Amino acid sequence: IRDLGETAALRSEFERNLGTCMPLATAKKLEYKILKRSLDLRQKMQAGFVYKLAINNLSDFLPLPRLQRLLSKKIIQIEKANYVWPETLQNLRTLRPASQKYLENENKRPVVVGFGPAGIFAALILAAAGMRPLVLERGKKVEQRIEDFALFQKKGILQEESNAQFGEGGAGCFSDGKLGTRIKDDLLSLVLDILVYYGADPSILWRQNPHIGTDKLRPLIKKIREAIIDLGGEIQFQTKLSDLQLLPLKNAAAGGENDSQEVYKLIGLETVSAGTKRNIACEQLILAPGHSARDIYHMLAQKKQSMSAKPFAVGFRIEQKQKAVNRVQYGKENELMLCEMLGPAEYHLACKVQVQGEERRVYTFCMCPGGEVISGTSEKESLCVNGMSYHARSGENANAAVICAVNAGDLGDDLFAGLKFQERIERAAYKLTASYAAPYCTVEDFVKSQYSGEEYERIIAAAPYAEERNEVKADQELKSWCEEKVQVSYLPQAEKCNLGHLYPPLVSRALALGILQLNQQMACFAARKSTLIAPETRTSAPIRIERDKKTMLAEKCVGLYPCGEGAGYAGGISSAAVDGIKAAQKMLQSLLNLADDW
Ligand code: FAD
Repeated sequence: IRDLGETAALRSEFERNLGTCMPLATAKKLEYKILKRSLDLRQKMQAGFVYKLAINNLSDFLPLPRLQRLLSKKIIQIEKANYVWPETLQNLRTLRPASQKYLENENKRPVVVGFGPAGIFAALILAAAGMRPLVLERGKKVEQRIEDFALFQKKGILQEESNAQFGEGGAGCFSDGKLGTRIKDDLLSLVLDILVYYGADPSILWRQNPHIGTDKLRPLIKKIREAIIDLGGEIQFQTKLSDLQLLPLKNAAAGGENDSQEVYKLIGLETVSAGTKRNIACEQLILAPGHSARDIYHMLAQKKQSMSAKPFAVGFRIEQKQKAVNRVQYGKENELMLCEMLGPAEYHLACKVQVQGEERRVYTFCMCPGGEVISGTSEKESLCVNGMSYHARSGENANAAVICAVNAGDLGDDLFAGLKFQERIERAAYKLTASYAAPYCTVEDFVKSQYSGEEYERIIAAAPYAEERNEVKADQELKSWCEEKVQVSYLPQAEKCNLGHLYPPLVSRALALGILQLNQQMACFAARKSTLIAPETRTSAPIRIERDKKTMLAEKCVGLYPCGEGAGYAGGISSAAVDGIKAAQKMLQSLLNLADDW
């Protein structure tokens, strides 16, 4: 079956093909919606798509039992295909009279901190339900933020409150806009439908690995901002949450000596805007500040809130030639057709390596086909990198994080050990170039910095570089692409450095071994000249803010809903958005006394 491409001709061809898959009477029109399309590349010579469809009137064609016999378990009956936004919006509107009554006291107005995916979606749901949320965002509007980031890329001038992490749209704004996630949640379809409603390409609803691209994401965020305001919400930019005012509720510990048992009630917030502090009465707060708001973790620790260290991962961004990735992933036979239909190829690779008697997971993450490596830093004299791409994904290089897991126990039992580790690495990376130029080296240089002599020979013999792989040697064109110099895409500039001592030996050796192992899974991953750009440190939050599973309230604070990536409950745009929706739902449920299954 060929791609739909959203044209009528292809759609009718699709339906004809569908007819040959299932013995359907042709007189009637099949009412169907594509839920998902995935590419089956198990046999490269016979690549094909697998479609998952919701069919409304299937039993008009054949009785269901007969179809089930014909297609064994491939048909299941469902009540409702997906959440859709206009319908959900209407449902939320029915809550408006109750919300209005609740809001009779202005102090009760809910506040959302952070306007990244989690905060945006939480605010949209609250606004649709008539709760007139007040959103506080430390960074600037997306339009100004783009200018600030452009200045950084041109001149290396960093604005600490307006960068790839902070500002309208959150960390996802300067991204590839990949919407794939490992979480399974019915609300994902609502997130996608909302994005389509506000301007994303409808194909994100059914593509296997949907992505938007930073250029298309930015106007979309602006539209959702306007929708929230139209629905009664208010957004204050360049306004930072700096403190919480909490009232102790009770001390459950015997004798009151153990203050770790203390529970508080939120009564207000302190904000800072243009250097001026202000207090706001607030009893209901959705806290979605992302993982780069390190000051928030310190503030919560001072307020005796429950938090725990969580695993995270660190490493590099690797860049290869995208044309080599296309060749290896799609195969020479399908390369042109699949590039045209699906865009440049992606990869997700993972392996386990043994280092110093320990097993470590090394994997790729947040791969950006045809993208560029960008700075993800939000602090002065410190450096970290990430990846972004435009919708067309037309850049010369592929890039991805290649990272090694750091377990919570690796760094001792200090709650802030992971965060301090990230900060230390980021400052050390900055010192390597003494500027915001990113330090980089080639894969070969890095592996040689970790292994030498016989050990190096043994490792290379077991897992050779791309150029020595048989698949690559058999294809002269691919071999020459693997041998080409990879121009680092990072701006303002990149500087060749020795990255061998940036991380502790366990991490560095695991990464070196892992990079060669991953090359066994995708033959062009680690060409000798593929580049490693440092450091990739902010892959996820190193701290979790503990919350109740059912109510989503912070364990020790009534009225506080920590959510999104910063709270440790999401990793990526879609999962953060889902978490934001859930936090808003829970808040509405509690404030308006809605039933559990609401
Ligand atoms: P964030 O997006 O971090 O948003 C938090 C917001 O809170 C920010 O706007 C910040 O300014 C604001 N804030 C922080 N502290 C305060 C405060 N004290 N007061 C007021 N406001 C505050 N994920 C994907 O799924 N796909 C991708 O393609 C992808 N690419 C990425 C590329 C880059 C360059 C980066 C940095 C990340 C990428 N990610 C990607 C990760 C993704 O962006 C995050 O997982 C997601 O944005 C997390 O959403 P969030 O709302 O929880 O937090």
